[in-house]
Parts: sequence; structure tokens; C-alpha cells
Amino acid sequence: MPHPMRTRSTSDEWADRGAAVQIQRETDANGNVQIKTIKKGVKDFTFGRTLGEGSFSTVVAATDRQTLREYAIKILDKRHIIKEKKVKYVNVEKYTLNRLGNHPGIVRLYYTFQDERSLYFVLDLAPKGELFTLLKKLGTLNVECTQYYCAQLLDAIEYMHNHGVIHRDLKPENILLDENMRIKVTDFGTAKLLSLPKPAPSADADPSGTDASEPSTPTSTITPIEEERASSFVGTAEYVSPELLNDKSACKASDLWAFGCILFQLLCGRPPFKANNEYQTFQKIIKLDYTFPPEFPPVAKDLVANLLLLDPSKRLTIDQIKAHPFFSGIEFGLALWTRPTPRLAPNSSIPAPSK
Ligand code: ATP
Repeated sequence: MPHPMRTRSTSDEWADRGAAVQIQRETDANGNVQIKTIKKGVKDFTFGRTLGEGSFSTVVAATDRQTLREYAIKILDKRHIIKEKKVKYVNVEKYTLNRLGNHPGIVRLYYTFQDERSLYFVLDLAPKGELFTLLKKLGTLNVECTQYYCAQLLDAIEYMHNHGVIHRDLKPENILLDENMRIKVTDFGTAKLLSLPKPAPSADADPSGTDASEPSTPTSTITPIEEERASSFVGTAEYVSPELLNDKSACKASDLWAFGCILFQLLCGRPPFKANNEYQTFQKIIKLDYTFPPEFPPVAKDLVANLLLLDPSKRLTIDQIKAHPFFSGIEFGLALWTRPTPRLAPNSSIPAPSK
């Protein structure tokens, strides 16, 4: 049993050493700039219900004791991560979320801190679960709901790509829903960070100042990660792009392949490429072996067919997708995040797959 005095002093030491440090500039009544240092650590939150479990983490709802704002806190066991050689994945998630900063369709990272045992990521709370669960419940989504969710997803992808991030694991399980049933993309542990041509605007570069900032020399830190990944499978079988299977390379268009798979799946309840095991799924993907159900809406069929193309350079670009007739009448940009969510309903013309 650990010595009680020693345990207390060690945890006190960690409360200080492991806290997130936020530097805030405030101007007082006389116009003098005051620099304030705010520390956030485990003791500043009340931990509540468990929201979910990942292979290396537990996600818990938590309330900031001072502001009473609710967050989701992802807790990662340091020893387990080191033992399973996942340190780089955890760092990629942190750097990526920090780079992405503030977009309504992407889970935001507010602070990271640690104690002796765990790492803590303080994230936006997405209380309505996964798009995957919603789809399982309804079986399929109708055209209006599919347009609604796919337009938000496309907007989030465009933002990521503009900030030099390829997600590489887009799927309905990684699309969470906020309190208004709007999407929040999550799970950036397998993202690819591209070097940015110029520094991101400061508003994006500093998502409320945490110790989670990207190293100042990104190339030296990022390159080994990509080299290590080049030989390993990244993503989820059903959504993985043919270029990743054939050339072990992912590009921005690989996310648009996954986008095409998701659009297909929302409308008919199953992804286009699915087999009994990963190997057979991969075979289907590289042979472009998929079929549309006869009831699949023709305009959506045209969009999917122009995304699920083996050659990534032939796939529609984000601007072409926005201009596609499937999205006619949809206003892209901020309006996507303020308009009311349509009544959620299945696609009555396509039979849902049996559960
Ligand atoms: P794995 O690590 O095995 O790939 P995962 O990526 O789903 O799993 P986590 O990111 O730790 O692992 O998430 C675990 C679960 O917690 C998810 O299934 C999700 O439903 C829930 N969850 C994750 N982030 C949030 C959030 N910000 N708000 C609400 N629930 C969340």
C-alpha cells in the first residue's frame, strides 16, 4: 500500500504540474493590460455519467465548477497508452484538434491536463450520441435529413482540409450529435496533418490557450508519424479508400470517398462496400463492386457514383459537390448551423436492412 503522505504530496504536485495553463490578457479600467494565468486541472471539474468507452479511453460528462458549463472529458490511461504504443496517436489527436480550433461541426478541444495516472481532454459535449446510433434506430434517413447531415459534414470536411487536416476515418460512428441534433465530427487520432502553407489566423490557432498546442516545428514532429503510418492500415474497412489499399496513401479526396460511402449509407441503411470480413470488404472496394438498390434516388445516385471513383483525381471536388443537384436549395456556410433540424424520418421508399 502506498504511504499516505507520499500519495498526497504526489497528487498535489500533479494538480499543479499537470494543469492546463491559460494565459489571459485583460485590460483594466485605466487601460492597463493585465496578464492573468488560469490553471485548469482535475479539481476544477465535477465528473458525472460515463458517455462511452473507447479502446484506450473513457469519456465522461463533466461540469466546470466555476462556470457550470458542461463538457465531455476524455480520460486516457497513460500506462496503457505507452504499453500499447499509442502515444503518437494521442498526440496527433491533440495537435489536430488544436489546429482545428473552432468550427460548429467539429468537436472542440478546450483544455488538456494530466495527473499521475491519466491524460484528460476537455471537449465539447455531444449529448445526443452518434449519427450511427440514430441511423440504426431509424433504419435509413430520408432525402431531406440526408441532405441536412451531408451538407454539414461537407462543410466540416472543407474546414478541415482548408486547415491542412485529412481525417482518414470518417464514418457515422465518428459523427456525434449536439443538443440541437447537429453534427460534431470527432476522433482525430488517425488524422493526417499537412504542413500549412502559411500560419493559420490567430483566432483558429489558439482554441482558448491550452498546453495542447502543436509543436512549433510541425514537420519534424509530424513526418515520423506519417512514415510510421505509411505501412499500417488506417481507418475502418467499409470506408477506406482504394488509394489507401493500393498505394498506402491517403489524400483529401480519400475523405470525399468516405463522404460518398456515408451518403449512400444514410439513404439505404448500409454502407456500399460490406462483406463478411475485412479482406472481402477490401476486395470489393478495389474492384468498385457495389450496387444501388433500385429505389435509390437518381439524383443521389449520380452524386455517389461521382464520388466512388477509383481514381481520386476524378472524384468531384468540394465545390462541385456543393453545386450538385442533390444539394439544390441548400445554403452552405453559417446557415447550415443555424437552420432548424428537419423532422428526423426514414426513407420510406427504401427498405431498411434487417437488424
Ligand atoms: P476507439 O478508441 O476504440 O476507436 P472511440 O474513438 O469511439 O473508440 P472515444 O473517442 O474515447 O473512443 O469515445 C468513446 C465513446 O464516447 C464514443 O463511442 C462516443 O459515443 C462517446 N464520446 C466521445 N466523445 C464524446 C463527446 N465529445 N461527447 C459525447 N460523447 C462522446
